[in-house]
Formats: sequence, C-alpha cells, structure tokens
Amino acid sequence: MIIAITNQKGGVGKTTTSINVAAAIALMGKKVLLIDMDPQAHSTISTVANPGKYEKSLFDVLMNKNEKIEDIIAHSNIPGLDVSITKISMAKLEPSLGGEFDAHYRLKDALEQVRGRYNYILIDTPPTLGLITLNALVAANFILIPIQSSYLCLEGTDDLLETIEKVKRIANPHLKVLGVVITLYDKRTNLARDVVQRIRTVFGSKLFKTFISKSVKLEESPAYKESIFTYAPSSIGAEQYRKVAEELMSRAKS
Ligand code: ADP
Ligand code: MG
Repeated sequence: MIIAITNQKGGVGKTTTSINVAAAIALMGKKVLLIDMDPQAHSTISTVANPGKYEKSLFDVLMNKNEKIEDIIAHSNIPGLDVSITKISMAKLEPSLGGEFDAHYRLKDALEQVRGRYNYILIDTPPTLGLITLNALVAANFILIPIQSSYLCLEGTDDLLETIEKVKRIANPHLKVLGVVITLYDKRTNLARDVVQRIRTVFGSKLFKTFISKSVKLEESPAYKESIFTYAPSSIGAEQYRKVAEELMSRAKS
C-alpha cells in the first residue's frame, strides 16, 4: 500500500508526519519504506545515520532506468523502517525530466521492484504541485493531507483537490484521499477551534479523529536523528502519532 503525504504548503508538518507515522507503523511490526521526494531531504537526513556515504540517490534512479532502487534504500535507526537516500540533487528532476513522455510515471515504475517487500510505503513530498509531487500522486493508492491549524490553513486546498482529480482522470483512477490530519494544534486558542470547524466543513468524515498538538519534543527530535518514539516515548506527540498511525492503517483497510 502506497500513501503520499501531500500539501503544497510548506511547514504544515508533512515531513514530521511522514517520519513519525512511518516509525509508528514499523514499531508495530510492519515493514515500512519511507520515500523522501523533497529536495531538502529532511526525512532522509533525520532517519539515516550517514546518507553522505551513498554515492547515488533517488534522483539517479528516477532519471535512469538502469539504476536499481535497492541501491539507494537504507536501513534507518528504527527496526523495520527503510528510507530512500534523497539529496538536494532531487531539485534537478523537473528541469531534467520535463520533456520525457513518461516523466510522471518514474516513481511508480521504480517502486515496482520493491513494493512487494513492504506492507506500507509512505512518500514525503515537497511543498509544490510540480512534477515531483505528481510522481508521488501517480504512484500512490492513497493521499494523507496534513493541515496546519492556522488562519490560512485552507488556502490552496482547492488547487490540491483539483490536482488530485486531474491525476485520477489521467493517470491513477483509484487514487483516494485517505484523510486529513490537523497538525500544530494549540487547543488553548479560540482560533484553533474555529479552524477545526472550517476544516471539518470542507473534509467531513475524512478528518482524522486524532489531532497532532504543537509540541517542543516533536520540533526537537529530528535534530537528534530520532523519531518521537525514541526521543520522547511517553510524550503527547508520541501518543498522538501512534493513534494517527492506527487510524491510517484502519482507514487504508476499509
Ligand atoms: P513540512 O514538511 O510540511 O514543510 P515539517 O514537518 O518540516 O513541515 O514542519 C515544519 C516545522 O515545524 C519544522 O521545524 C518542524 O520541526 C516543526 N513541527 C512540525 N510539527 C510540529 C509540531 N506538532 N509541534 C511543533 N513543531 C512542529
Ligand atoms: Mg517537508
């Protein structure tokens, strides 16, 4: 099962959600692959001990069909979680692949070689709706949309939903929105409650029951190359991401 974590807004918790949901599922005993499609490579950097020692990266695999994706998959420090080696070179994908007739299918094709080995493949995406994100949406069965609990949170949602519809029409008819997760939630403010109401009006039952609160521990953990489950296992962030992972697994089944 392949799940793209997408929202073309930056700073809404895509990477934090990708890493911690992937870690939570792996810690439940499943085999998980995290594919980092963001040229900033924060998912890779935050989970793989020494990504610099790899010569090749996901960019090379997407550019050249003779490169094997196995060669750019690393074990993370979490048992059961593997992660793609992604580097800043990913930023060259769009200008390099732009004219190729199968440009949007490169990730889907590359994952064919390994998808049977994993229970879940999660794809972290960059804050754009360009070719990189389209590769993720073409490869995925499901989309998980993190939405930051903030005043302008729904700005751009129309573009995202329109893009999803276009991908369904042209390349991936079975693509489904698995759900929406509210991130960076601060329950003390009236604004946060108002924002939840607005998100619920747009997404209805797609809204996950568990919200991710704003938390210093979640903000700190990537700097120590740890998921929240080793950095602060009894924190509220760990509890919430575990619940989001459970909800994701049960929604993906039904
Ligand atoms: P995106 O991938 O959508 O750009 P990130 O996951 O990188 O978003 O999050 C943006 C910033 O907010 C990062 O510095 C991250 O550490 C921080 N952050 C994410 N989620 C939380 C949270 N629940 N509480 C506090 N800080 C968070
Ligand atoms: Mg990110």
